[in-house]
This record gives sequence, structure tokens and C-alpha cells, in this order.
Amino acid sequence: MKPIIAIVGRPNVGKSTLFNRLVGRRKAMVDDMPGVTRDRNYAEVNRFDVPFILVDTGGFEPETNDRLLQQMREQSRFAMDEADVILFVMDARSGLTPADHDVVQMLRRIDKPVFYIINKVDGDSQEAATGDFYSLGVDHVYTISAEHNRGVGDLMDEVVQALPEDADRQDEEDITRIAVVGRPNVGKSTLVNRLLGYERVVANPTAGTTRDAVDTRFMCNKKPYLLIDTAGIRRKGKTVEKVEKYSVMDALRSIERADVVLIVLSAEDGVTEQDSKIAGYAYEAGRGCIFVVNKWDTLQKDNSSMGKFVEEIRRSFKYLPFAPILFVSALSGQRSGKIIQEVDLVMEQYSKRVSTSDLNKVFSNATEENHAPLDQGKRVKFYFATQVGTKPPSFVIFTNRPEGIHFSYERYIMNRFREAFGFTGTPMKLIFRGRD
Ligand code: GDP
Ligand code: GDP
Repeated sequence: MKPIIAIVGRPNVGKSTLFNRLVGRRKAMVDDMPGVTRDRNYAEVNRFDVPFILVDTGGFEPETNDRLLQQMREQSRFAMDEADVILFVMDARSGLTPADHDVVQMLRRIDKPVFYIINKVDGDSQEAATGDFYSLGVDHVYTISAEHNRGVGDLMDEVVQALPEDADRQDEEDITRIAVVGRPNVGKSTLVNRLLGYERVVANPTAGTTRDAVDTRFMCNKKPYLLIDTAGIRRKGKTVEKVEKYSVMDALRSIERADVVLIVLSAEDGVTEQDSKIAGYAYEAGRGCIFVVNKWDTLQKDNSSMGKFVEEIRRSFKYLPFAPILFVSALSGQRSGKIIQEVDLVMEQYSKRVSTSDLNKVFSNATEENHAPLDQGKRVKFYFATQVGTKPPSFVIFTNRPEGIHFSYERYIMNRFREAFGFTGTPMKLIFRGRD
């Protein structure tokens, strides 16, 4: 599991600026793919090959000033439970506030690395004015400017040092790991029971944090599968106090550990905002994805019902056009039998390797038939493509202008690879490397 770093702090201190700075999101992507990147508050980041998940806790709810303190407490509590490292951000321009003080007292008591950060220190004059913050009594405060990228590198060097060792995904090569994710009440728990073929595999799991995930192994047609966090899925169905907004985080954790993600939607409700957050993360995490439209039994159906739902899904999840869609009823078992079949198919594509010569045939046809747009007036040349990994299929493409390839062209290449090789249900990664 990749470690989680949470950014906590009052509204307007610059949490999302810092988040964007660290994620280094590409503008083209934000423009081209509404729904994936624009409003997400978590992202996978690699810093010098150290992967972690960054969470901007400010993104969890609308910011209302009257509930400020309570909201900060909630954010911080969440971060304390879920995160491995906490970045607590304060604002040099507004100085130290009582809310900052309060939260710091709370954070000081926990047994996790916390970095105390003063943002908006854009230059030496602000640097000089941060004396106030020393009254917090913490060992070290880091002064940065998220907007001007001042001090951020030094801070992150230390943050990365504080991360726990990445517990290796204990890889059992032949097992297929399945995550079942979706909003509360879409029928995840019912579906899990259906997949396992019997009720209450885990009787009354004791409440706890999501850390004590219980996975369940099962066999189907003599092949082994692992259902991730079955206890969590069941538990969530039952407790009201499990705050809905954080269930995205639970999904995120399961997705991280999965090969194939079943994104469960409810035929009764159609597609909602929270569905797209969860699906967006599955896409970005590069996992195999299958849409499972559950509660299909509840609809008054006519000839066009399925077509209409497919359209709604394709429209709402533009970045997942390759994900299969299944219509099931977990309650009655109708078509649920198809799910594992589809999981097998996606797993095969997710793990697929294509030969370098086949790949380059397709690649050179693609680049010849449709040239990449000029980059700052310069021609973009491609040399060679090679598959460097699976799960998901990942490719390195050598070019003279690795920074100058527009996202739409990247998508074009991916589509050509899909036409030629399939890759049904699996995202792909293209990495452009420079070579002169
Ligand atoms: P959040 O509510 O904590 O996520 O804060 P935002 O990231 O939305 O930032 C709030 C405001 O502070 C925005 O207008 C930012 O442009 C500004 N801001 C963020 N970081 C800096 C910084 O390092 N220096 C300055 N001067 N302004 C900043
Ligand atoms: P979870 O919160 O996503 O785990 O959802 P549950 O599995 O607890 O299901 C929520 C409610 O939907 C329960 O009352 C289930 O009986 C009901 N439900 C689940 N699947 C189906 C289905 O396929 N059809 C119908 N009609 N109801 C379902």
C-alpha cells in the first residue's frame, strides 16, 4: 500500500495550491477531461521514485466559516486516522490564528510525523515576519511559498524521508485482486455476498479503522481471487455514522490494492457526483475497471433502457470508454454470474504484453498517418516504442520533444494501440522520453 500524506489547514492558507504544486497536474489534462482532475482532492504522486498518495482535506466539503473549527477538527481527525504523514499548513499573511493553535495542540499528541508549514512566505520580508509561529512550541516550522515554489523542494525531501517503508504488495502472482467500490447503498455488500456464494462470510466484524481491512480469498473455476476489504464493505452498509464524504477514501484504499475494480452504480439513482470521483481515481490509479450497474431489477424496462444507461455512463465517465458495463441484480443473482467472467477478461488485458515489433508497426503507422502537432514551431519526431510493464500496460516512447506532446495526441496513440491490441477494460500508461 502506498503511504498517504494529508494536507490539513484552514481555508485559504494555500492547501490546494500546494497540492497542485506537488501533483504538477498538466493543464491539458484538466481542460480535456472534465470530471477526472478538476475537482479531485487526492492524487498519486511520485517524488524521485517514491510513490505516495496526496490528499487535500480541504476538498472534502464546502468551506463555511461559521463551522470553521469543527471542520478543521474533522479534517485533522480524518488525517490522524488515515494518513501516514500530515502536512499542517498555516498562512504567513494572516499570521497565527486561534484555530491554528487549537489544531496544533491536537496534532502534537499523535504519534505520526506532522510537518508544520507556513505558506505564502514569498520572499525574505515575509520570512522575517514568521516569528509569531514559534510560540506554537513545535520543533520546526517550514516556511514555503506554494505559489512561487519556494522551499517546497526542501520540505518534500524531508517529508519523503518520513514516509514508512512501502509494504510491498505481497504479490502472489496468479491471484486476481478485486475491489468492489461505490457509494453507500448501491449494493456492494449484497454483491460481495453474491460473489462469495454465501451469506455472512465475516460475521459481525468488529468496528475499527479501515486499517484492519479483511480480505477474503475465494476460488471460482479453480482460479484464486481475492476480494479486498470485505469486512469494510459490510460494515459500511450498516453504520450510519460512517460519514459519507469519507467513503471515497475507503474506495481509494481498496483501489490501490486491486487489479480489477468493480465500480458499482445503482440503476435506481443513475450516475452521481460521488460515483465519478471514485471512478476517476480507479482510472488514475491505472486499474482494470468494470462498471456494474446493480439493482437492474428495480427498473421498469423497455427496449431502450439499457442503451440509455450505457449512454449516461459513457457521457459521465469520458475517460473510461474502454471499461465494460454489466447490468446485474445482486439481490436476485440475475447476471451476477457474468461478473467473474468479465473480471478474467479484464485481468488478462491488464496483464497483457505485446511484442516490440508488433507495437512499433502500429506505432509508426499511427504517427505517419497523423503527425503530432508542432511543438513551439518544432517538428516532433518519434523514434521507438516499447512496452516496459504490465498491470497496467505501460509504454515508453522515445521522442525528440518529450515535453511537447499534447494530451490529445497521447490519447490518439492510445486509441490506436487499443484498436490493434484490445486492452479492454484496462487503462494504459504512455511515458515520453527524450532522445536526440
Ligand atoms: P486552500 O483553501 O487552503 O486550498 O487555499 P488555496 O490553495 O485555494 O489558496 C488560497 C489563496 O492563497 C489563493 O488566492 C492562492 O493563490 C493564494 N496562495 C496560495 N499559496 C500562496 C503563496 O505561496 N503565496 C501567496 N502570496 N499566495 C498564495
Ligand atoms: P452497500 O452499502 O453498497 O454495501 O449496499 P448493500 O449491499 O447494503 O445494499 C443496500 C440496500 O440495497 C439493501 O437494502 C439491499 O437489499 C438492496 N439491494 C442490493 N442489491 C440490490 C439489487 O440488486 N436489487 C434490489 N432491488 N435491491 C438491492
